[in-house]
Amino acid sequence: MDKGKIFQNEVNNIIKKRFDYHIALLYPSTYRSSLSSLGYQLIYFYLNSFEEIFAERVITESRGDYISIETGTPLSKFDIIFASAHYELEYPEIIRTLLRSRISPLKEERNRPILIIGGPSPTANPFPMGKVADFIFRGEFESTGKKFFDSIQYIDNPKKFKEMLSSIEGFWSLENRTEKISIVKDLDSSFFPIIQIQNPHTEPILGKGLMVETSRGCNRGCFFCMESAISLFRRERSENKIIELIEQGLEVNNLNRVIFFSLSFFDSALGEKILKYVVDRGIEASIPSVRIDSLDDNKIELIKKAGQKTLTVAPETGIYELRKSIGKPIKDEMILQIAEKLKALDMGIKLYYMIGLPGERQSDLDAIIAQVEYFWKTLRNKKKIKVSVNPFIPKPLTKMENEKMEEANELQRKIDYLNAKLSKISEFEYYPPKLARLQYTINSLGENAHVFLIEHALKKIRD
Ligand code: SF4
Repeated sequence: MDKGKIFQNEVNNIIKKRFDYHIALLYPSTYRSSLSSLGYQLIYFYLNSFEEIFAERVITESRGDYISIETGTPLSKFDIIFASAHYELEYPEIIRTLLRSRISPLKEERNRPILIIGGPSPTANPFPMGKVADFIFRGEFESTGKKFFDSIQYIDNPKKFKEMLSSIEGFWSLENRTEKISIVKDLDSSFFPIIQIQNPHTEPILGKGLMVETSRGCNRGCFFCMESAISLFRRERSENKIIELIEQGLEVNNLNRVIFFSLSFFDSALGEKILKYVVDRGIEASIPSVRIDSLDDNKIELIKKAGQKTLTVAPETGIYELRKSIGKPIKDEMILQIAEKLKALDMGIKLYYMIGLPGERQSDLDAIIAQVEYFWKTLRNKKKIKVSVNPFIPKPLTKMENEKMEEANELQRKIDYLNAKLSKISEFEYYPPKLARLQYTINSLGENAHVFLIEHALKKIRD
């Protein structure tokens, strides 16, 4: 990955000649996925909206030195590193990057840079990185950004700086152990990056398009869902605001496609209204995974008209009883009746399932097979049916956090069973049980996880 070349190819990135505070935004994954991360773009443009702050991006994809995309500055030279972690396996990646940048991964051995880690998994459980990060930021950063800016002016007085951070809602440390998660209450008045980084030479994971968030949070309360647990409750942008973002954003970024972000897009009338708006305007759109019981024929037609060829839904299980036991009581008929509509529209489907759920029996696996077979019998095209199977991981803060996770061998046996039947009639993929178990292990280790994580990172470096 040639960072200088990336910078030259990009549109809308930022360079500052004069600034007082230098922040690295560490993204522990690939450059392509960083382009599709709305959260990463949001914090980049938000921090840079303060004249005195210059925030640069550091992506961990390359094997060379960890330097910023904007100016080639090594990670160790920044005042502050903000790292984002979407899930637990990114922790060893963050530590590996620190080690290779000759920065101690233990906060007690480090003065500068100050390390702050945010993102969904540390928000749900900050303990595993508690001895690594100076602070874990729990929640949505725009909610406290102004207070953060007031504190950063004391950065040359580390004691005072840390004291100030510690008093801001959402800034967790092993010392203060605050349980508060900081969220934005009014999306309309909060910061949104209308200008977004584009790179004509790189296809983002979600394709090219303007990322627009219509809502945050979800009130459905499925027992296993960490995303809804950390975002507390559903908040929506107003219709006018969303339209303003779409119109301005498409123009300034020179795009004609919108990628919507929402945990449950059709949970209010807003989703349908906005989708109709973009369809009527001839704008292409991509819709996130939708709740099956919020769908109807009109909405599926709109999704198709927006240019999407595949509908993504998550039945989670093959039968109603098991689905109900995890807090997602969607009737089987509701799932199956989508098939005819998809056939009429010549659309495909992507189905997400979980295995290893408490109380799961062999007949539940057979019910998944029967459900996929039903879609196959209707759509008669393997390429139009995608199946993704994921081991159930009890996640912190959810109602199922104290459930036991199944062993990797048993999960793999179940996946092999499903794979043998379903790969004949669908494009079958699964999340490896060993990696799922690793996520579970990291969370279970609590504040002592750093020993395991550092060892894991060192092993990656040796390999
Ligand atoms: S509907 Fe989706 S986002 Fe909402 S709680 Fe259930 S799984 Fe989570």
